[in-house]
Amino acid sequence: MVRHDSSMVPFGPTRRQFLSSATAASLWPFLDFRIGEAADRRERFSGYPFKLGVSSGDPAPDGFVLWTRLCPEPPGGGGVQPVDIQVQWRVATDEGMKRIVRKGNATAAVDWAHSVHVEVEGLEPDRSYWYQFKVGMDVSPVGRTRTAPAKDAMLDSFRFAFVSCQKYQDGYFTAYEHIAQDDLRAVVHLGDYIYEGHGGGGDSPVRNFDGPKLMSLEEYRSRYALYLTDPHLQAAHAAFPWIVTWDDHEVANDYAAAISEDVTVKPEEFLLRRANAYKAYYEHLPLRRGALPVGPDMLLYRRVSFGRIADFSVLDTRQYRSDQPCESKYRTPCEGIYDPQATMLGDTQEKWLCDGLSASHSRWNILAQQVMMARPDFVYKPHKAGEIIFCMDKWDGYHVPRTRLLQFLSDHQITNPVVLTGDVHTNWVSDLKVDFDRPESPTVGTEFVGTSITTKGDGKQAVEIEKVVQAANPFVRFFNDERGYVRCELTADEWRSDYRTVPYVSRPGAPCVTRAAFVVENGRPGAVRT
Ligand code: FE
Ligand code: CA
Repeated sequence: MVRHDSSMVPFGPTRRQFLSSATAASLWPFLDFRIGEAADRRERFSGYPFKLGVSSGDPAPDGFVLWTRLCPEPPGGGGVQPVDIQVQWRVATDEGMKRIVRKGNATAAVDWAHSVHVEVEGLEPDRSYWYQFKVGMDVSPVGRTRTAPAKDAMLDSFRFAFVSCQKYQDGYFTAYEHIAQDDLRAVVHLGDYIYEGHGGGGDSPVRNFDGPKLMSLEEYRSRYALYLTDPHLQAAHAAFPWIVTWDDHEVANDYAAAISEDVTVKPEEFLLRRANAYKAYYEHLPLRRGALPVGPDMLLYRRVSFGRIADFSVLDTRQYRSDQPCESKYRTPCEGIYDPQATMLGDTQEKWLCDGLSASHSRWNILAQQVMMARPDFVYKPHKAGEIIFCMDKWDGYHVPRTRLLQFLSDHQITNPVVLTGDVHTNWVSDLKVDFDRPESPTVGTEFVGTSITTKGDGKQAVEIEKVVQAANPFVRFFNDERGYVRCELTADEWRSDYRTVPYVSRPGAPCVTRAAFVVENGRPGAVRT
């Protein structure tokens, strides 16, 4: 019968969510009960199949995508019969899952690691919904999500959080514990959802695990399953719709299109690995079928709009970029960064981005992307006296396409462009300029760079480094080296970013504070500290 024993749901997101799922299970209409299901369950699963939780994503005014994966034995992924399995799903307007408004069946295909992606349509704009999966007698935790507002709606306020870089062994996902309690309409993930290196590593891993450097599909799948057993990550997924994009570590460090960081690996060989990595990414995240991977290719860039308040151009700066110029990641500028043929987005995505920005009627036009667009001299990195340090993996290595994009924002007077960035494991706020060498030149946009969830481990405020960074880079408004997330609240008049930080990740339970807050006024690019 229905399971009320919490020990049988060891990875449930929170006590509250477990209780709500148990309650909902008892309410699941028994019309669905078929004799023999208990026997089915014993044959098909070695244990509770929803140990990776549930999630939702890419909200539209009439729906969203729902996700789960049947995985009774994470991280290895065993415990499921190698056959396609039908999963029931339901969407309700109440947390108790009583008022069902949509339901159906979906196939958890063995070829897709028994993952389920359901695109729900026909719902009302701008309202909360709850959802749940069921297979045999087992029900998933209940997730909460929300549709986007109608296309022409102007919201009084729109709140979301953005995150990146969650290396499992570097610490606890405490930031997600706080995100799950926050009042948000979406969570935006800017990449490094997993790290592909072997288990352990670093000086003293906080959460060690056994695992190889990822190469095969099974290895990538196992890594996602490990990460998704984290209760705080599950709670954040179950609380809000997510909008995700990847960076490099979902595949391999600092790769560029078909080119591995390890130059001895042939592109055709690397593409086999990339195909495994992309497939596992799709299998574990709430992505629409438009992103379904085909071999080593996956169309991840897309637009997600929230009425007339916020338009997210979700970018992919990995799959189509030209190779990083010159050797070594952080270095003095070399000739290669000025290559006129270089590309960060690829021609097709760049045109798509510019066309979309030109056509947008949104108050805030957000570029949700990976690597830093501002051009600071990384003065705190090792360097000789008088040397400037740029980073070849960031837009620094792609000077011509960066200038072209920033010039476009200026020439076409794009309304309130805001760039969101991850990757660098530190918090930054910068004015974006067409010419960073001329501090007096106009600011054409604002960049908010969010720190890591855990990567690099416990942080510090780094006020001294901030002073040095700002002295060398007058367009930088903030630098900070703590872990956490960035919460943004948008109105028609103002964008506010709260830099939410946790003092440690090496043990659980850290409190979360707003370390700094910045405001951008409508029509006036550049952030001001409040
Ligand atoms: Fe990272
Ligand atoms: Ca990265």
